[in-house]
Amino acid sequence: MSYQAANNRYQSMKYNRTGNSGLLLPALSLGLWHNFGGVDSYENGRSMLRRAFDLGITHFDLANNYGPPPGSSEEMFGKIMKTDLAPYRDELVVSTKAGYYMWEGPYGEWGSKKYLVSSLDQSLKRMDLDYVDIFYSHRPDPNTPLEETMAALDLIVRQGKALYVGISSYSPEQTKEAVRILNDLGTPLLIHQPRYSMFDRWIENGLQDVLSESGVGSIAFCPLEQGLLTNKYLGGIPGNSRAASEHSPFLSEAGITPEKIAKVEKLSELAKERGQSLAQMALAWVLREGKVTSALIGASRVSQIEENVKALDHLEFSQDELTLIDQILAK
Ligand code: NDP
Repeated sequence: MSYQAANNRYQSMKYNRTGNSGLLLPALSLGLWHNFGGVDSYENGRSMLRRAFDLGITHFDLANNYGPPPGSSEEMFGKIMKTDLAPYRDELVVSTKAGYYMWEGPYGEWGSKKYLVSSLDQSLKRMDLDYVDIFYSHRPDPNTPLEETMAALDLIVRQGKALYVGISSYSPEQTKEAVRILNDLGTPLLIHQPRYSMFDRWIENGLQDVLSESGVGSIAFCPLEQGLLTNKYLGGIPGNSRAASEHSPFLSEAGITPEKIAKVEKLSELAKERGQSLAQMALAWVLREGKVTSALIGASRVSQIEENVKALDHLEFSQDELTLIDQILAK
């Protein structure tokens, strides 16, 4: 059935400015790391993208290696673009990345100009797009001069293959350097994509200061700690969860320790007192004080997107609530 986007799609989403740029991003963005691969249901992926856009989520985040197999998430996205979302291309911000292993030989990973330019060409083909809105260096490369990686990002923008550029998981010092080089080249750094959640607060030790001083935005990945910061693991490991999936090497049953679950239980009680689910409180917390431009969620079903978007109904925290969260996390 042909898709017609909801008329009220811009009514409830909040849009935040990305650093000092002209680009607004939705407070919640959707990532296609899991559940959009060749091993996953096309119709489920399609329903999630359609529902997300209907709820005002205008930003979809990909990478060359998302799947499995690598590349297949971009292919599924390209197919859904063609069938459903192509008329809305100018209402969408699509991002992709290169940095992790993608193909054999010396040019299939890390940060050389050779790899980044070839990889984006492949991504554009898989998604059947003329350009992406944001192209990222997915990880810093210790063996390639930062000047070369940043020059590749600048080149890609000048070639019209991306409108903006970003970096992911770069340290505060590397970020400062990247900002300087890109400013000199005339292609300012739009955004940093770091991991950030209640369970992983590394960006508070320097990176957030660098970003705000430099006018660079941020989009937090794994804000729900891959599902741990929801109520789903409170009663054990459900069979249909990421932790139980054979395709998810980065969240294992062993990683869901009794200590973590004890914290999750306490956080969940606080969320209940706030009239929210834990997932909603975890997302509101990432977005608190306006320091993060967008929380980049994943989802395995439409109902999770619907629940998570409702986080925006209650974003404020009292000082007491913030202190209590710090105490729970410190134990
Ligand atoms: P999250 O921390 O948001 O975890 C998403 C998972 O949590 C879902 O797939 C689902 O898992 C579960 N979940 C989500 N909402 C709910 C809910 N309301 N109730 C119960 N469970 C819920 O993020 P991801 O780990 O998926 O990462 C998000 C995106 O970040 C990726 O798609 C990617 O775009 C980006 N990313 C970037 C990286 C980088 O290096 N730059 C690295 C990793 C991610 P389940 O299957 O169990 O239902």
